[in-house]
Amino acid sequence: MSDSRRQQGVTVLGATGSIGTSTLDVIARHPERYRVHALTAHRSREALLTQCLRHRPSLAVLDEEHDAAWLRERLLQAGLATEVRAGQQALIEVASDTEVDVVMAAIVGAAGLLPTLAAVRAGKRVLLANKEALVMSGALFMDAVSRHGATLLPIDSEHNAIYQCLPPEHRGGLARHGVTQLLLTASGGPFRGWSRERLAAVTPEQACAHPNWSMGRKISVDSATLMNKGLELIEACWLFDARPEQVQVVVHPQSVIHSMAAYSDGSVLAQLGNPDMRTPIAYGLAWPERIEAGVEALDLFQIARLDFEAPDETAFPCLRLAREAMREGGTAPAILNGANEVAVDAFLAGRLSFPGIGELVGEVLTALPAESGDDLETVLGADARARQAAHTWLERG
Ligand code: NAD
Ligand code: MG
Repeated sequence: MSDSRRQQGVTVLGATGSIGTSTLDVIARHPERYRVHALTAHRSREALLTQCLRHRPSLAVLDEEHDAAWLRERLLQAGLATEVRAGQQALIEVASDTEVDVVMAAIVGAAGLLPTLAAVRAGKRVLLANKEALVMSGALFMDAVSRHGATLLPIDSEHNAIYQCLPPEHRGGLARHGVTQLLLTASGGPFRGWSRERLAAVTPEQACAHPNWSMGRKISVDSATLMNKGLELIEACWLFDARPEQVQVVVHPQSVIHSMAAYSDGSVLAQLGNPDMRTPIAYGLAWPERIEAGVEALDLFQIARLDFEAPDETAFPCLRLAREAMREGGTAPAILNGANEVAVDAFLAGRLSFPGIGELVGEVLTALPAESGDDLETVLGADARARQAAHTWLERG
């Protein structure tokens, strides 16, 4: 692909985060293939400035106009032609611009839903890291993918692994392809094996120190509560047309097997690799080809052993809550996600205990009935009500 006309234009939503940074690392290894069209960040304007100087995008987006003005000024001084915009509408534009082929959806949380959906509706190749967007709006999201001919490639390492273990065309239900079960591996997080009592004193710093992966703070807390695995269970159901019963969570502390697919003839296919998100990112960028990702080769002798155990859903109720929300269907997963985002923020701000996260999410799910309905308004309404109910619960102390 030395022909510059065949270079792919890439927008990275959430460029300054953990996934965004890894994405730019892979892109920079293949300048003949990829051209950075737009980079976006919420508030981290210094980090975005550094990325703009390095990757020279056509556009950059920040949340607030005063940050955008600051960046505009610096880029002008540096002699760059990058246009700087601000706000949610700008995110939607850079996700759907005609110059864009690939959109990396790496904003964290519900904030990523509208720009990710915009990319889907524009029929882009969408690399989905922002699992919350799919969890909230599963039916409508997957419907938009097929309706607009978007190419959806999972970046979450587990789903990327399963994608690699399934037949190339796996739509229409797992049974049709002889798949009996998806085995979703989980590291178990930093508190694997801890009792409920011990978990009561957990601090944000402890929760954010993940044993195997280096990630943003929200997903680190989700990994510690196992809500991340719960969100991933829901994500797997939507991506692979699976029922919650067909997804088994397997705790595997080494994080070397990234997930598996079990077939009716007894075969179990697994994808292995070092825990480095550049592998799924490179897979998504180049699919169906393979490109170098800068990831160290897997040394099985050094790893020596692989362990497996069942998750503890008593000490970590969030996984069970997510499974129940998926079974309930409708807006239940959006309610679960909205309540969890408020709970994680409160925990990180020192206003809620670690076990309080599961309690709060459970309370909100019980208090708010799930509605049916796959339209965006219903989903956003459920998200807003869940957040409101969570705030009220927090204020009551
Ligand atoms: P992060 O916190 O490191 O980065 C988040 C990015 O989104 C930043 O660029 C930030 O500026 C931007 N952002 C945050 N809030 C925003 C808002 N309100 N509006 C617009 N932009 C906003 O997060 P991360 O660890 O890179 O995770 C990103 C997504 O990828 C999450 O959904 C996460 O669950 C998923 N994911 C991450 C990993 C990982 O290894 N980090 C693995 C699998 C999936
Ligand atoms: Mg994951």
